[in-house]
Amino acid sequence: MSAQHGTPSGAVKSSRSRYRAMTVLFAMALLLFAGAARSALPPASNDLAGWFEAFKREATDEELYRFLYAMPKGGDLHNHLSGSILSEWFYDLALAQESRGYRYYTRVKINNCRPYGGNAFTESPYLMLFVNVQESRYRELDDCEKSEYLPLGALEGDQKAAWLDSLRLDKRHEGRDEFFQTHWQRMGDLYLNPYLAADALVLNMQKFGEEGLMYLESMIGVLGFMEADGSALTPDAVADIYRQRLRDPDAIATGVEVRLQVAILRFLPGAEKTLRFLYAFVARNNDLFVAVNMVGREDNDKGYPLRFLSTLRDLRRTHHGVRLSIHAGEVDEPNFHVRDTLLLGADRIGHGVNLITDPDTMRLMRHGPYLVEINLVSNLLLEYVSDYSQHPFPEYLRTGIPVALSTDDRGMWDSNLTDEFFVAVKEFNLSWPELMTLSRNSLLHAFAPDSVKADMLARYAIRVDDLARKVATRPAAVLADDAHSFGFTCDRYELCEW
Ligand SMILES: [Zn+2]
Repeated sequence: MSAQHGTPSGAVKSSRSRYRAMTVLFAMALLLFAGAARSALPPASNDLAGWFEAFKREATDEELYRFLYAMPKGGDLHNHLSGSILSEWFYDLALAQESRGYRYYTRVKINNCRPYGGNAFTESPYLMLFVNVQESRYRELDDCEKSEYLPLGALEGDQKAAWLDSLRLDKRHEGRDEFFQTHWQRMGDLYLNPYLAADALVLNMQKFGEEGLMYLESMIGVLGFMEADGSALTPDAVADIYRQRLRDPDAIATGVEVRLQVAILRFLPGAEKTLRFLYAFVARNNDLFVAVNMVGREDNDKGYPLRFLSTLRDLRRTHHGVRLSIHAGEVDEPNFHVRDTLLLGADRIGHGVNLITDPDTMRLMRHGPYLVEINLVSNLLLEYVSDYSQHPFPEYLRTGIPVALSTDDRGMWDSNLTDEFFVAVKEFNLSWPELMTLSRNSLLHAFAPDSVKADMLARYAIRVDDLARKVATRPAAVLADDAHSFGFTCDRYELCEW
């Protein structure tokens, strides 16, 4: 009996211990596999460039991303602050403004209050959901329109998800029109609060600092800003708010150096007048503001570069210290916008996608003093290239036209600067010296004072030395532990949260 009883119980016991043994073996195999995955990194080497070539061959996409995230970087020279705020950040930043008396409302339904008066192409189109207004403006609406809005903080579930989505360019059918004609209009009053803008700037400094950036030159607004009660703030008062915020300990702790640009919508009827005003504004706020930029669709013919030549020549007679970085060549058609923009006095060209169609200007720019700010993610999502084999970036880089990578409107792309480098390495097989050239270019061509640039270049060299030391001793240490992917790389490269 006992044997009979004992046998099955012994069988159970032995099958349990076999199970335990198999579990242990499986765990050991997993550990060995993980060890093998780690040891797949190339061995330590004193030759960083050679090591990087081997690393690209052997690393997984995740490892490449973690390397590029931790890699020291120079500056982001082409960054629209209002477009650099990820939707979730925007939501939280807007609600946090209640402590300063700003409350926001967003349109969640349309009750046909203005059935025949809504022009889709005005600054505040009526037939659009998730347009944001601040309370002072909400109070001026009639009861019908008021009923279309909810306080931003009251959004929940699908409604909140849709609000977050409304500021992101993440659907395949969303392209240039969605970007130029709905995103900015929806943002509405959210971006006319200088405290929110200043907080968003510091948040960007923190996030960029975490991925190794040293310098941020952001395009930021100064016109049309309001206090919580709706009263107007002068541009100089707005500049003081930015200045003050950048002196706060959390801003200084980021270690990221900041200079600001102001932007002009180039195709508006009064653009020359705005240029005159903002040029003088930059000249008298030159401790923080360094440049004027011109933005907006270039395929709107009213904003062609030479329109501004006589105004700029006039301004140069009486002002100094104002630099120009201007969007040019962000179009599908061949034209001479880059050439004409250099004549305007620009030292940097934003995008320059169609420079490739102008061989004379390309020859002029080889090994020259003018930098093209390359925005790989933006150019794909806004359909200026249909795929990366069409992008002229490698041609510019490898024929000696100064280039640097930048983020443009990363909040709307749901991306970061690492994504730009990831795309560049994946699509164009960049070498380590090329990665260094891009980062050094972004510091050399910054509009910060020479002494600040020299200091940043010296610190960049120290960071690269530190990276080289790690590769020579413990290569696994060059992969960031805290890197995480964003929507763009998840969508395009299946590199999702890990
Ligand atoms: Zn731009």
